[in-house]
Amino acid sequence: MPVIDGDRLVRDLEMLRTFGQCGNGVVRQSLSEVDMESRRWLVERMTNAGLDARIDGIGTVFGRSRNPGKALLVGSHTDTQPTGGWLDGTLGVMYGLETVRAFAESRETRDLAVDVASWIDEEGTFFGLLGSKMFCGLVGEGDLDGASSADGTTLHAALRDAGLEGRPLERCVPDRYRAYMEAHIEQGPWLEEEKRRIGVVTGIVGIRDVSVRFEGQQNHAGTTPMARRRDAGAALVTFATRVHEVFAAHAGPRSVWTIGNIRLEPGAASIIPGRAWLNLQYRDADEARMDRFEDHVRDLVRESNARGLVAVSMDATKDRTAAALMDADLQRHLEAAAECHAPGAWMSMPSAAVHDAQNLAQVLPSAMLFVPSKGGISHAFEEDTSAEDIVLGCQVFADAVASVLLEGR
Ligand SMILES: [Zn+2]
Repeated sequence: MPVIDGDRLVRDLEMLRTFGQCGNGVVRQSLSEVDMESRRWLVERMTNAGLDARIDGIGTVFGRSRNPGKALLVGSHTDTQPTGGWLDGTLGVMYGLETVRAFAESRETRDLAVDVASWIDEEGTFFGLLGSKMFCGLVGEGDLDGASSADGTTLHAALRDAGLEGRPLERCVPDRYRAYMEAHIEQGPWLEEEKRRIGVVTGIVGIRDVSVRFEGQQNHAGTTPMARRRDAGAALVTFATRVHEVFAAHAGPRSVWTIGNIRLEPGAASIIPGRAWLNLQYRDADEARMDRFEDHVRDLVRESNARGLVAVSMDATKDRTAAALMDADLQRHLEAAAECHAPGAWMSMPSAAVHDAQNLAQVLPSAMLFVPSKGGISHAFEEDTSAEDIVLGCQVFADAVASVLLEGR
């Protein structure tokens, strides 16, 4: 079976970290200058590993194997949150690269075909999980029209500035692939809590964002009597409180919801807000429950409008991702490899974070492996995983990829 080179793997991860490094963490948002530099570096690494590699028309780095037969596609992402950790996404891409290199060094595996992808914009600077959605044909006509970053740069302009306009797109040809597999840091506390070193993912939660808008009347904060106010800010606060009450009453064991962003306009101490806006995001592994949550939000909008003072409207945005189950057979391969290298120190678990794998799961049998995150911290500069766990995870991953491909022969 393949033997991965742990030093080579960690060296490359450290190298990738230098693109946008900020203390222990990384600032490398998709399609930024430093992100594009890192993508060109990755193309070079993939090429050195024998892959036919390029950056496609949306920014995804794709390395195609020249070996014959059904291929296994390995992927994750190398873009970061506005302030992100050094392993979020990069771990899975570098596992793919190291798997390709280790396969080439073993007689048993050197003819196996493994493609490696770094999907663009997993973190949603412009459009969440963009690269994997494009690859899988999950982006509808017009879906990307309004896509822009927080500073107002449109996706279209960013692609042009990055020199990607007009380049061909990689598209999934399901016949080429036996499966898709992705490794990722857990980003939560459960592996550490249970003293396990490997997680085999059973399913991934879906995610939905709803934006709610409040229209009242801007006015003087001193001269306007309370009874005559149409205060959009007050309506927002009441609405937010009701969201927490209603969602808590209908939540499943792993439902989570967050009001992560609110805005009051014009946002001054002596002005009654005339307009207000909030973003509500919720996640669950159960699509039916997510549908019900959306109905609850609709009911709350109606309840709020019934008071008649402030006009409330909602927009369940197009940027949503469906929950997905991981392939049972692929999970068995991961479990066997984990039991071989970390007997008794692995567990099956759901993913509470979204991943590119849930898009791939709509077109290919898909699976995911997790390694522990120290202190359960991610999307933060402090994010880290021990070198021992990084290396162990890659060996388990490479073994599982090999056994999936060898079994299909
Ligand atoms: Zn990630």
